Amino acid sequence: MNKLEILGKYFGCGSFRSGQETLIDGILSGKDVLGILPTGGGKSLCYQLPALMLDGVTAVISPLISLMTDQRDALLQRGINAVCLNSAASPDENAAAERALISGHAKIVYLSPERLENPRTLSLFSKIPLSLIAVDEAHCISQWGHDFRPAYLRIAEFADDLPKRPIIAAFTATATPAVRRDIFERLRLNDPVTVVNSFARDNLFFEVNRQPNDAEKLLDTVEFLRRMGADNGSCGIIYCSSREKTEIISRSLNGMGFSCLPYHAGMSAEERQRNQNAFLSGQCPVIAATNAFGMGINKPDVRFVLHYNMPGSPEAYYQEAGRAGRDGKASVCRLLYSDSDSFIVRALIDEAEQNSELDEETAAFVKKVRLKQLSATENILRSGNCLQNEILRYFGESSPKRCGRCSVCDRRTEYRDCTVEAQKILSCVKRMGERFGISDTTAVLRGINSRFITENGFDRLSTYGIMKDSSDKEIREITLELIKQGYLKQSEDRSLHFTENTATVLYARTRFLVRLPIQNSVAEPFTPSAALTEFLSPPVPYDEKLFARLKAIRDKVSTVCGLPAYAVMPDNVLKEISAAKPTTADDLLKIKGVSPEHFRRCGERLLAEILTYINETKHQGG
Ligand code: ADP
Ligand code: MG
Repeated sequence: MNKLEILGKYFGCGSFRSGQETLIDGILSGKDVLGILPTGGGKSLCYQLPALMLDGVTAVISPLISLMTDQRDALLQRGINAVCLNSAASPDENAAAERALISGHAKIVYLSPERLENPRTLSLFSKIPLSLIAVDEAHCISQWGHDFRPAYLRIAEFADDLPKRPIIAAFTATATPAVRRDIFERLRLNDPVTVVNSFARDNLFFEVNRQPNDAEKLLDTVEFLRRMGADNGSCGIIYCSSREKTEIISRSLNGMGFSCLPYHAGMSAEERQRNQNAFLSGQCPVIAATNAFGMGINKPDVRFVLHYNMPGSPEAYYQEAGRAGRDGKASVCRLLYSDSDSFIVRALIDEAEQNSELDEETAAFVKKVRLKQLSATENILRSGNCLQNEILRYFGESSPKRCGRCSVCDRRTEYRDCTVEAQKILSCVKRMGERFGISDTTAVLRGINSRFITENGFDRLSTYGIMKDSSDKEIREITLELIKQGYLKQSEDRSLHFTENTATVLYARTRFLVRLPIQNSVAEPFTPSAALTEFLSPPVPYDEKLFARLKAIRDKVSTVCGLPAYAVMPDNVLKEISAAKPTTADDLLKIKGVSPEHFRRCGERLLAEILTYINETKHQGG
């Protein structure tokens, strides 16, 4: 079979995605490759397909056991024999995997990087020809990434110790220039064929909203879930910063009529698996998870990802958000943060340093990197520029065009020169003795008549009432902006104080610009704007009744065979089938995503059900 036949037959795809063919051809011609493709870009195919065409075995180095087993299971479903070698499997299972490799029965083996240090592994691979080492999530090799794994540093040496050095293929979704250099040097890639695809995700709509506290965040979340149709089967992930929060949010949302399950590393493996399966199969549309969830989760129809807290790094943010819309359909990534989030992330960074298993010097370095990543995240969220462009710039990509879809591009806001307003506020803060907070200062500026003001003699200040034409909200916004931009600071008792930068605005050496809603336009934060509504075009219509019946069959097969529902037939493919209503095996196999393996599992039963259904409806109709 040639590569296109394999692509169709085993992977159910009609054509390659951007970059895939170049990388596959590189491997097939015996060269090292480096593929930097965004999440959902289809990196797995770049090594799985050549693995079937190369003579020997392909070893895939992967950082997480769950990721390995998921990928192995997905391959088994496609009729490709793959095995895993890792510490979670029993010695018997590992021995069986080794036998399958030695006998040539399995061509793909997934390994944890730590496994390479096991002498058994080297001895195994001196017995069987290893053609290719595919390093997945290759950013783990760099302290500059967000998931540093020292064991990744062993890979190059391992390859050199083999009788014949195999091809090395490295893949990652997140690589800043520094990480890219580390991958290249530390894997000792030999003149690799390199593909760097744009990270721009045209089908994702990025939204950021600052909320004062968790209660407001929850309200925002509920509005958002309704807007996204989460009460109507549309699926999404809510990323939380702590285990407790995943539990609290699930409970709250379930209480409000949504169906949501938690997922975090503190749950038993069994419970985690159950919740993950419920989400993957579409049984439970929403999962509230810590960042333990998702690496390698291959659910194409995730319609939204909501970050409930500020993520620790742009890398983590973009990778997690990027789990939305892998099927290429319009999806929304919303991020909620409050000012206290930065402190939480800082505390987590400190804690990680304390508990680090790295040597002291490396741990200190990693901490420095983390802090830098946190401030990069803050800058992206607060820059007031197009969100996607800011993210892309961080990854070393420049785009002259605004994306036109993110909440910054879409919001009806404009920069206004508020230097004069700022000067009034600042001089009022000074005259009040830097002892009061935002509301008291605002009251003086607006010339409010109250006991508090007369008793303190604030009505005799020259700043009393100098902003009486402005609204409370406006003064407040500008004051908050002064804090954000570092011209004022707030102490613990909320009183306002000058900073070393205040003078530059006060004496007009700097213009003070603020992004404010365009005047006369009513800001409606939860109503989708015209741009978003247009962007989220309606899904393909399908026959819901038929879908429900096909789904029931699929679920039964899934239970009987002990396979996850998506492996028997994913929901989105079932929807396509319910729309097309094929009645012959040929027509069913023509539908995108229906592989011969899927067909073998449940094809005949689905066809029978479709025929029954068509007959029934005909009967009812006539
Ligand atoms: P990555 O590892 O880059 O995040 P995956 O390898 O998990 O992405 O692939 C993401 C999704 O894209 C999977 O559902 C996969 O089946 C699908 N996919 C990959 N290549 C193609 C292709 N050429 N055509 C259609 N779908 C593809
Ligand atoms: Mg992947």
